[in-house]
Amino acid sequence: MDLFEYQGKEFFAEYGMPISPGELALTTEEAVKAAENLGCPVMVKAQVHTGGRGKAGGVKFAASVDEVSEHAENILGLDINGHIVERLWIEKASDIAEEYYASFTLDRSAKKHLGMLSAEGGVEIETVAEENPEAIARIWVDPVEGLSEGNCRNWVKEAALPEQALEGAVEILLKLYEAYVDGDADLVEINPLILTEDGRVHVLDAKVTLDSNSVFRHENYADFDLTQTRDERETAAHSKGLQYVGLEGEVGVIANGAGLAMSTVDVVNQVGGRPANFLDIGGGANADVMTAALEVINNDPEVRSIFINIFGGITRGEEIANGIIDALDRVEMRSPIVIRLDGTNADEGRAILEPHLSETLQVAPTMLEGAEQAVALAKGMNNQ
Ligand code: GDP
Ligand code: MG
Repeated sequence: MDLFEYQGKEFFAEYGMPISPGELALTTEEAVKAAENLGCPVMVKAQVHTGGRGKAGGVKFAASVDEVSEHAENILGLDINGHIVERLWIEKASDIAEEYYASFTLDRSAKKHLGMLSAEGGVEIETVAEENPEAIARIWVDPVEGLSEGNCRNWVKEAALPEQALEGAVEILLKLYEAYVDGDADLVEINPLILTEDGRVHVLDAKVTLDSNSVFRHENYADFDLTQTRDERETAAHSKGLQYVGLEGEVGVIANGAGLAMSTVDVVNQVGGRPANFLDIGGGANADVMTAALEVINNDPEVRSIFINIFGGITRGEEIANGIIDALDRVEMRSPIVIRLDGTNADEGRAILEPHLSETLQVAPTMLEGAEQAVALAKGMNNQ
């Protein structure tokens, strides 16, 4: 679950990190009002789930309320890396002396948390890593031992932050680590962490990814989740309890089991098609779950054909076939369907499908052929 900057700052503030006062604004009028409350100068900042907002013109300094109005007008509706700006964060402007970078994430191969700190902040860390890798000081923290103050202080020294920033940086980094661990975050990043003209270390940007599986442990995370920008198809699918990920293509995919669903997506790609989605209907392919899956795919306007790839395990072929036929009675499908049914009692299942087959309801003997048939149908070249 990715947070907007203002949510990330709210999250950081709960752990005692210093952030600037600010207000959320959805319209230019609200932005002006926020600036009047805060007092100029302020920053007008686009709130989108992507980085590089500054470069894209989504972060502007405003010395007066008139400038706030002008910037808000320009930034609302702006397209930043495919994200349309619908909300602004109006924040009291800071005087920056220096910009640093700090983050924590998990290093899976080391089985430790990885902290990265650099005196060269404000620019993309990928650029620093490429052009000046020794400017990033890394620390691996054993999750059981945690981050001690002494290790943290050495880390800051290694990153060559100036003496003046040392104590402030140590204090913030210890809190950042605490927020990352106790908050069940996958990533916390501050870029830039700044030294102000009057010598304070301060959080100026926040990028936070929380582990969605931890929502039950944190009451307030439900509020964060409400503002997620999610694919409409995914919202519909998740409300029906389906494991669905929206993709860009034309071939709708239904499979049972995450592994088979991923392979199906791969095979559709392999034969020159583009999958419209990943959809795992789980173990029991009964009529209800199949109906839900077909409805979600049917509502995707990009879909041209559907490939149902089911391997019968505990669920037998006849049950699966009956489920599909039953579901097809309930949903009026827009696109042709190819079914590959294999596994336990596959022959019995195919016999049930047999009388229903047509141009728009085909079966395929293998996964590869099924993908080929579905891709051909999507391209409008019926190869049957
Ligand atoms: P990003 O481009 O999406 O990472 O957005 P940031 O929040 O990091 O802002 C981009 C840049 O705008 C920062 O690196 C700063 O240089 C500048 N900036 C952000 N807030 C302030 C501020 O309060 N005062 C000043 N002077 N500059 C700011
Ligand atoms: Mg930034």
